[in-house]
Amino acid sequence: MNTVKGFLALLFVMFVTNISAQTVISNDIYQLRKYKLQAQHQEFFLANFKNHTMPIMQKYGFSILSTWIEGNEFNYLLKWDSQSSIQSKWLQLMSDEGWRNQKAHIQQQYGNIIEEISEHVLADLVSMKNQRGFTAFNIGDIECIALSDGFVSLPAQPSIAPHISANLVANELTKGFRKDNIIDYPINVLLIKKDSRLILIDAGQGYANRNAGKLVGYLQSMGIQPSQITDIVISHAHTDHIDGLIDSNGKSIYSNATIHVSRVEVEFWESLDNDFANSINNVFAIVKPQIELFEDGAVIHGFIKNEIAPGHTPGHVICTIFSGTEKLVAINDLVLDVIILTHPDWGSGFDSNFEQAISTRKNILFQLSENKQLVWGSHMPYPGIGYIRKNDEHSYEWTPKFISSPTSNK
Ligand SMILES: [Zn+2]
Repeated sequence: MNTVKGFLALLFVMFVTNISAQTVISNDIYQLRKYKLQAQHQEFFLANFKNHTMPIMQKYGFSILSTWIEGNEFNYLLKWDSQSSIQSKWLQLMSDEGWRNQKAHIQQQYGNIIEEISEHVLADLVSMKNQRGFTAFNIGDIECIALSDGFVSLPAQPSIAPHISANLVANELTKGFRKDNIIDYPINVLLIKKDSRLILIDAGQGYANRNAGKLVGYLQSMGIQPSQITDIVISHAHTDHIDGLIDSNGKSIYSNATIHVSRVEVEFWESLDNDFANSINNVFAIVKPQIELFEDGAVIHGFIKNEIAPGHTPGHVICTIFSGTEKLVAINDLVLDVIILTHPDWGSGFDSNFEQAISTRKNILFQLSENKQLVWGSHMPYPGIGYIRKNDEHSYEWTPKFISSPTSNK
């Protein structure tokens, strides 16, 4: 027993001497590892961890903050400066010859002395998002983080303004100092954090587009694993919003998330039989056990209201995220590009009902501009946060929210 006490005392000292520094530096990632031990080998394990494993870990720059025993479980807490160093340092450790030999030796002598290993990666969400330049802001007590899955590059027409002359469209684009016939549509994704909920608005385009598929990496660099996402609200079922739900092997990425989709949207695509609809229905089929259908006006978890804004697709929704007197309206694909704010009736070749999309767009833009409402849009310039300003009766303008730095949440 002396070995155990001495070992714990040593680590307690390490923990105490480190903690004061740790509390002021909040950019780190903490990795908690839990080993379920066989009772008869507990003492041997601890001695081996102290005498063999720890020196090798220290050689590779592992920083062990603390260790403790709970019943038959040995726990230790590691500190890392980045997600990538977790992977690289563990790889170094596992290919260390001394470590491998000792492991083989123990296995031969005692068999499996560890019954089970589990781990949790803990990251300070606030500091990580700032360190990485994610744009975060608060709506009351709800934390919103503007993320990106990348972008999708398309010919300007017919993705917008299918019935307008190419010259007029090119003029509008060049006025904005942009390419005159190509639009690089941002694929913005919103992460919403409240209490134990981690909610995404849409899942991006994922593997299906070589300029996209960045969302999972961004989440992981904040210390969030896809399995930790609790909910995904799908604004509508176009590929740049749902293909990111699955990986290239056709597996659901966000395996524990409830996927909220409007009933109208799912039924619409199910009623069609063409290549485009089939690819959408395939994605829905893969994540079917996770899907929860909602009706127009449904409020999810008491703070996200989803209202059908039809036209782009029949079940396309805008989402109002509210807390106290504050709110944010996720307009999603109500407007595909800032040019469509100036010309709401130019529309998009992707609108499933072109005329209905125009009238929905005009009505909602009018209300948002009258209310000076903060909005977020899937395809507005990253980070997609801003206001709709009225120019004249039928024309609006995008005013990005003034953000002083990526670390600002004001
Ligand atoms: Zn879209």
